[in-house]
Amino acid sequence: MTREIFEAEHEDFRQTARTFFEKEVVPDHGQWEKDGIVPRDLWLKAGEAGLLCFDVDEAYGGPGVADFRYNVVLSEEQSRAGVSGPGFSVHSDIIVPYISSLATDEQKQRWLPGCVSGEIITAIAMTEPGAGSDLQGIRTTAIDKGDHYVVNGSKTFISNGINADLVIVVARTDPEAGHKGISLLVVERGMEGFERGRNLDKIGLHAQDTAELSFTDVMVPKENLLGKEGDGFISLMMNLPQERLIIAAQAAAVCDLMVELCLDYAKTREAFGRPIGKFQNTRFTIAEMATEARITRVFVDDCITKHNRGELDATGASMAKYWATELQNKLVNQAVQLHGGYGYMMEYPVARAYLDSRISTIYGGTTEIQKEIIGRSLGL
Ligand SMILES: Cc1cc2nc3c(=O)[nH]c(=O)nc-3n(C[C@H](O)[C@H](O)[C@H](O)COP(=O)(O)OP(=O)(O)OC[C@H]3O[C@@H](n4cnc5c(N)ncnc54)[C@H](O)[C@@H]3O)c2cc1C
Repeated sequence: MTREIFEAEHEDFRQTARTFFEKEVVPDHGQWEKDGIVPRDLWLKAGEAGLLCFDVDEAYGGPGVADFRYNVVLSEEQSRAGVSGPGFSVHSDIIVPYISSLATDEQKQRWLPGCVSGEIITAIAMTEPGAGSDLQGIRTTAIDKGDHYVVNGSKTFISNGINADLVIVVARTDPEAGHKGISLLVVERGMEGFERGRNLDKIGLHAQDTAELSFTDVMVPKENLLGKEGDGFISLMMNLPQERLIIAAQAAAVCDLMVELCLDYAKTREAFGRPIGKFQNTRFTIAEMATEARITRVFVDDCITKHNRGELDATGASMAKYWATELQNKLVNQAVQLHGGYGYMMEYPVARAYLDSRISTIYGGTTEIQKEIIGRSLGL
């Protein structure tokens, strides 16, 4: 299917991204899945190849390309290669944009060049053991002590949690002020009282480090407050649509891949003396998969175009995330079934996609939360 949203330069970049994943990631990904983490060195290579933080201004060491289509191409190629380990998207599409949009010039000078080069790896810590969907229920506190805050609390399920050098921590600076008492603080590697817990054992995304973090009387200088005190919740609401859109784009890419893999398999695998694609059930299944993937692709591409123009609202992003990730899970399931016993074997890409996809309807806000947002926008 021709994708009208891309121009020649995006397709050139697609080749660069594809080559990077094929050469630098695919050969070692199996080992990194066993390790539960990708090496820091990979981040430096990605930085050198110009794959991190496209939208960071040249003044801070970035390419200054504020065109979200490049972010989409990189994520699509990573999904296509079936290598879920590197947390590049979390870093470039989700976390660094908080710094780009909220940080002071001094903070940008301090942090952004390293984010672009891959020397600084980032994470965002919203979720706590007792509060995920209900962000307003967080308990981590940051108490004002004049020139610094004292941070106490614990976070869980944090992507890039082991490798991260900078963690944007969502904390309560005013326990009495509800969502207006939430702020964003940057906690840095090595700050006393900042500890990493377990690298969590997950169903999929085995090469991604997802960790528990704990903060015990961590002294965070006021210079590390991101944005205004009390504006944290609003900042999260402003940035979550882009997070949801990139998850939708990744999901749409997996849907396309499932169609492609099933089509190949249906033409070559034989049963009862004919290719399985000759059975009406297989044809109908793949016909449905291809149709649903294409509809999703058109919708998600439209959302990407709108986002690039600054016109995608929170509802649109929620619709894209809800729809694309639910379809992704439906299609990976169908793809495994269509591959029979081989679909259950890890050496087949559909098996890995099945495991890696399960999270997509959960992180970045669950499907139920997306439906709440959509429902509210309809006046319900
Ligand atoms: C691999 C992975 C990576 C992650 N990365 C990060 C990260 O980098 N940073 C970070 O901060 N978090 C991260 N998360 C956390 C993730 O965003 C949360 O798990 C998610 O938002 C859901 O929160 P929860 O787990 O507390 O579930 P809960 O909020 O307890 O939800 C449990 C169930 O109740 C449903 N539910 C809750 N509220 C409602 C409602 N109002 N209406 C209807 N149903 C509802 C949910 O949809 C869900 O089905 C990650 C999680 C995983 C597993």
